Amino acid sequence: MGVLYFARVLKRVLIWEVPLFLCSFVICCVANILRNPKDKIELENQGVYEIPCKVCPATYIGQTNRRISARIAEHKNAVKKEEKSSSLFQHIKTTGHEIDFERTKLISKTEHFNSRIIMEAIEIEKHPNNMNKRDDTSRLPDI
Ligand SMILES: [Zn+2]
Repeated sequence: MGVLYFARVLKRVLIWEVPLFLCSFVICCVANILRNPKDKIELENQGVYEIPCKVCPATYIGQTNRRISARIAEHKNAVKKEEKSSSLFQHIKTTGHEIDFERTKLISKTEHFNSRIIMEAIEIEKHPNNMNKRDDTSRLPDI
């Protein structure tokens, strides 16, 4: 009875669990393959971007007229050098949190300076948990 029961369980596992496991594994791999290169290409654009914190919901919103990946490298450098003017470094210093540079997201691919500034200011306003300094939004022109 023991062997038979074991065989039945094994059969059920092989029929259902293994294909299900393989399916989810394959879907996961394909999703990763599809997602990663796109994310990398996205960060080769200029525009408005968002850098999240690893620990809390705080995010940093920025904009650049150069490649976002180049700007990220500068942010990383500023954090490493403990630059006081860096909002990201200030967040680390005051909270002890870590910045999740790997999850930097392109929010908007705007090429024109004014639209970038406006988009950035709107995104900062939309995120109450942003790490940006208050005067960042003062650049929003009066409409
Ligand atoms: Zn945080």
